[in-house]
Amino acid sequence: MKYTALAGGTGAAKLLRGLCQVIDPSDLTVIVNTGDDWMVWGLSVSPDLDTVTYTLAGLIDETQGWGIRDDTFRCLAVMATLGRETWFNLGDKDLATHLYRTDRLREGNTLSQVTDEIRRRVGIRSRILPMSDQRVATQVLTPDGWLAFQEFLVREKGRLEVRDVAYERSESARPAPGVVDAISHASAVIVCPSNPISSIGPILAIRGIQDSLAATQAPIVAVSPIVGGAPVSGPAGKMMLAKGLPVSPVGVAQAYEKWLDILVLDRQDSALASEVQSLGIRAVVADTIMRDRQTEVSLVRAVLKVLP
Ligand code: GDP
Repeated sequence: MKYTALAGGTGAAKLLRGLCQVIDPSDLTVIVNTGDDWMVWGLSVSPDLDTVTYTLAGLIDETQGWGIRDDTFRCLAVMATLGRETWFNLGDKDLATHLYRTDRLREGNTLSQVTDEIRRRVGIRSRILPMSDQRVATQVLTPDGWLAFQEFLVREKGRLEVRDVAYERSESARPAPGVVDAISHASAVIVCPSNPISSIGPILAIRGIQDSLAATQAPIVAVSPIVGGAPVSGPAGKMMLAKGLPVSPVGVAQAYEKWLDILVLDRQDSALASEVQSLGIRAVVADTIMRDRQTEVSLVRAVLKVLP
């Protein structure tokens, strides 16, 4: 079996860590959102790529859900003294990843090449692909105007009202090498529990990716990131509302309606199963909150069990 996953950051990383306990990690290809990539002090930061990479390598800071465990913030403190903006937290160890990525990109390598170098160096056997080698920028329309995703989420702490979300430059971006192939030749495609608008949305906005999802022979299963009428974490709820989608597994099903075969929804939402089924998507009920390693693995087993 060859598995291909579509992933954002935190929710995805937990599911993928569980998946790598159950399958051979070398059978997994992860396609990761880069719409919320951001430049900090001239460095290329790819938050979702790093969260997936750090989690699969066992390096993640579990309490924060981002960054490297036991990191220090000395550089950040000096930058503050120098008068630079420091609302985007970068730990000292984490900085090495961004320095490395920026340096290798400056030398003319692509983001996919650099991402592959990093995952190999930290001992990950699964393939990790950015959705594109071209820059796509997720923008959020708020009462203060359009903000870059990190300005909205980190600087403004996700508090502003969301009126719209756009994926700047997605029309001209191409899927990164291997992305379409990984979808077309997978035995199964797994859409991780990630923000449907700001994590999976940018991936879907790239020309060719939705077509390959619609065309693949592989069954496509998604795990709902919305449980009991709200996201488990993050701003997915207000972003779904801004896109006219209900904040429920039904809204997730609507967002993926064109190509999704199966949606795994939480037991709390079992009453919505028939509404999901009416969209032509098979609804499967499971416990989907990943609290620890054991619940990650149980959810993965529930997902794998529904695959034909
Ligand atoms: P963001 O935090 O909304 O920017 O988006 P990410 O895509 O990086 O990851 C967070 C998403 O994962 C949110 O929509 C959460 O609701 C979802 N999520 C996080 N943890 C879990 C979990 O344990 N179970 C489920 N079902 N969803 C989760």
